[in-house]
Amino acid sequence: MPEKVDIILLGGTVVTMNPTYDIYPAGGVAIRHDSIVAVGAAAEIQKAYTADDIIDCTDQVIIPGLVNAHTHIPMTLLRGLNDDLRLDVWLGYLMPLEREFVTPEFVKLGTRVACAEMIRSGVTAFADMYYFEDAIAEETAAIGMRALLGQTVLVFPAPDAATYEDALVLCRRFIERWHSHPLIQPAVAPHAWYTGTPEMNRACADLARAYNVPVHTHVAETALEAENSHEQNQMSVVDWIASHGLLETKLLAAHCVHLAQSEMFALKKANAGVAHCPTSNLKLASGIAEVGEMLEIGLNVGVGTDGPASNNDLDMFEEMRLAALLAKTKSNDPTILPARQAFMIATIGGARALHMGDITGSLEPGKRADLAIVAMDGVHNRPHFANNPDAVYSRLIYAAKAGDVVHVMVNGRWLMQNRTLLTVDETAALAAAAEVARKIDTFVIKRESSPYNKLVLLSGVKRQESFEVQVKVPDIDKTAVLQFLQSAHCKISRHAHYKQYDHYFIFDGNDPDAARLRHREDEFIGDDGQAYQTRSRLTLTSQAERQEFPNVVMLSRSRYLAEADRSLRFYREYFAPAQELEVCKDRLRWHIVYQDTDFAINLDRLILPDIPGYFLEIKSRTWSRTDAERKAGLIADMVQQIGVTLDTAERQEYAEIALNAGRTP
Ligand SMILES: [Zn+2]
Repeated sequence: MPEKVDIILLGGTVVTMNPTYDIYPAGGVAIRHDSIVAVGAAAEIQKAYTADDIIDCTDQVIIPGLVNAHTHIPMTLLRGLNDDLRLDVWLGYLMPLEREFVTPEFVKLGTRVACAEMIRSGVTAFADMYYFEDAIAEETAAIGMRALLGQTVLVFPAPDAATYEDALVLCRRFIERWHSHPLIQPAVAPHAWYTGTPEMNRACADLARAYNVPVHTHVAETALEAENSHEQNQMSVVDWIASHGLLETKLLAAHCVHLAQSEMFALKKANAGVAHCPTSNLKLASGIAEVGEMLEIGLNVGVGTDGPASNNDLDMFEEMRLAALLAKTKSNDPTILPARQAFMIATIGGARALHMGDITGSLEPGKRADLAIVAMDGVHNRPHFANNPDAVYSRLIYAAKAGDVVHVMVNGRWLMQNRTLLTVDETAALAAAAEVARKIDTFVIKRESSPYNKLVLLSGVKRQESFEVQVKVPDIDKTAVLQFLQSAHCKISRHAHYKQYDHYFIFDGNDPDAARLRHREDEFIGDDGQAYQTRSRLTLTSQAERQEFPNVVMLSRSRYLAEADRSLRFYREYFAPAQELEVCKDRLRWHIVYQDTDFAINLDRLILPDIPGYFLEIKSRTWSRTDAERKAGLIADMVQQIGVTLDTAERQEYAEIALNAGRTP
């Protein structure tokens, strides 16, 4: 008497991905509730089991569902927004936008769009890392996909947490809520070592260990990251994360493009999973991971698409094919990562990398029924040869397309049948996504309309005094200035010596509030003549309104100040100025009090452009026009005491001097 089950898939080629890689050319799969009961030859399955629901899979291939080992799924809503940029500039654009737009509703909609796309390409499980992961979990569970979901922890303010302590609280609540869900595996996701602190990473590892949940993080994605780790931490990325407890967790390490062999062995010893993301690594020019070597060492390697803002799709057929092709080119050996192994890392390999290898990733009795049924009758995938059953792997890797997927089941539930999605209203989701895109367009158009908006979004700004009074005299007698400084009229409150490297970004003049951005690096020089400290700042100024007193200039303009904690190259690519100008000088500066009023006195030697002699500058800033006028009078006094004739005063700022110096041959 045959045993009753719920569903029998009959007649297709069953690719099991079990430890012996069994294939049943005319096979069958018996499913009860959420699990696989039996896998075997069709005749055997028919003899042993009966079901009301028997699906004819003749001429199709039954495969374990594909596992997308690393992604940021709500970013489907940002797909194609910013491309062809370096990673830091890309993040510079994206992170402020995410702070503005990313809400629980946003991530739910993004999840819906992403799940629709992934189900259509035969994906049944994925590993995510994003914000509001609780909302992502609700949506994923409702749609019925399996997922490892990592709540992001960052030192920067994120859309869902102002501090990393807040993010850890969110993360703990998230884990407690989803801990025993049949589809959702909650995880802790410190974004990367370089976006965290040692304490933060340690706290993430402790939290993950306390609940025995995985950690999902980015590891050694770029060569720069690996170099920085050696420079800042005096150790490799993997050694650093190991020293903060992350290798004592169930780790899923995304990218791993720049690993030394010793780091691979350390990951292997820790039973860590690696998510190889070939398209993302190529698109961001991060490099090509040594997948062949990692597999040889025995690491659990999976394949991931990465987020749809850096891929730009979630198509695992493309991803596993690219993984196979790249590994060959990387090793200059076409036998590396053959089709069967490429398919392995996209299925059971990925499941193991997600620490889910015991429940999904292969078609074996006792495992959850997570599977896809793929048509093989497309013109791009014929004819078929029967002499070698393993040829099905090369059909799957080198010729099959996402569009060939016909049915998808997760946990015994159909999510797609005959290419119709059963748990996502795709039309409604895409209409809502188009609405979000319209709002983002408006935001981006406003941001791009002015360097001021771009600066505010990047780092926030501090407004400075509106009025500046200043005098500048070239070719000054240094001794006369020093004598004045030592005189009884003048009280020195501070003195410094530095080299000043200025880069001016000049913008086309359609925004008078933001005509010019100055990146200034001050290199402080000690008494021994050696530099001992540097400081970088950005100053955005509007076009100045000038008013001239007898030889003293008063400028009235808006000035905004921001810390410059990124590279000059970053700002150049982010702001894309119309013109750039460089000025370098050696500056002796005194802050003084003269007649109960604060002034700054500079003795400047212009190095670039090279202009001989010293410039004297006396300056002060204020919020008040009347006060500015009073200060202009005091400056004229001081200049007289120094014994300079104001006839030679220079009315131009250094940037203008440099501009004009550049123009004269
Ligand atoms: Zn990523």
